[in-house]
Amino acid sequence: MKCDICGKSVSRTFLDKIKGTYIRDARGRHTVCFECQSKLKDRESIVQQLK
Ligand SMILES: [Zn+2]
Repeated sequence: MKCDICGKSVSRTFLDKIKGTYIRDARGRHTVCFECQSKLKDRESIVQQLK
């Protein structure tokens, strides 16, 4: 699974949770890694960065 902003692969924890978050928009579900999530902070800026 890859981050939809920076393209790096998102690592998973042993519970199969991703280190990051899922963002839903009109096009579906996007994966965002922890680094991008903490850089962008709010959902609106994340949605704007999605490819
Ligand atoms: Zn990222």
